[in-house]
Amino acid sequence: MSCLKVLVTGATGRTGSLVVKKLQERSSEFEVWGFARSQSKLQEYYGTLDRFFVGDIRDRSSLETAMQGCQALVILTSAVPLLKGIPQPGQPPQMEFAPGELPEAIDYEGQVHQIDVAKAAGVEHIVLVGSMGGTNPDHFLNKIGNGNILIWKRKAEQYLIDSGISYTIIRAGGLLDQPGGKRQLLVGKDDVLLNHPPDGIPPSIPRSDVAEVVVNALREPTARNKAFDLISYPEGDPVTIDFAGLFAQTTGGL
Ligand code: NAP
Repeated sequence: MSCLKVLVTGATGRTGSLVVKKLQERSSEFEVWGFARSQSKLQEYYGTLDRFFVGDIRDRSSLETAMQGCQALVILTSAVPLLKGIPQPGQPPQMEFAPGELPEAIDYEGQVHQIDVAKAAGVEHIVLVGSMGGTNPDHFLNKIGNGNILIWKRKAEQYLIDSGISYTIIRAGGLLDQPGGKRQLLVGKDDVLLNHPPDGIPPSIPRSDVAEVVVNALREPTARNKAFDLISYPEGDPVTIDFAGLFAQTTGGL
């Protein structure tokens, strides 16, 4: 199997860093490069800047350098909500986005930049991690800072589908910082798993399992030109190990 050169953006993110580490562990199969906006975070996470680019997805030129010669791109960037002021006793914390970092700029324009630059650089396959909930404009995440984050994410997904590049779009349920490889994974479409999860399970999944799905999507032909929602059963048997079979259950288009 030839070595696939992959760029992972959001390399200092909670899921992005797991993807980078999983790809680094499979160095005979993948040559992984990471992209992040903070040099100090990169040093803290990885202890080196070797095979990392520092840049901003709002700046196309920094992406152009990073994408040279890559065969695949994993998009794991996302607007990051911040705490607004000091939480008042008895009140839920208020969230907002930093100026210039609203979801329209990051989750739409930033993803469009990545897709356009990837296409120009000859990247053959893009794996994009997004979120379930995008069919509901009233979803509480859309209300954060009036940012409509899930709406912008979904628009970027459509842009990727229309780009003509081979795609895998993974819309995760609520992300958990729990061990991976211990659950059965479930795929769906149109937020059905969110609105009607089977057996009333929480529509959530460990970040580590999402990262494993990303890594497998880079290799499995059945993951090409697919978009799907992704959650997990709670820990227990059976455990998903057949990723080609999982992807075969999914379909193309939003
Ligand atoms: P995360 O930790 O919030 O990571 C987002 C990454 O994007 C960070 O590394 C951030 O950089 C980077 N980023 C933001 N703006 C950037 C810019 N202008 N230029 C370059 N990089 C930029 O992500 P996560 O929680 O692992 O989530 C991964 C994906 O799953 C996201 O799309 C998220 O919306 C989605 N999702 C989340 C949940 C959930 O429960 N949280 C549920 C379903 C789906 P810094 O590290 O410098 O901040």
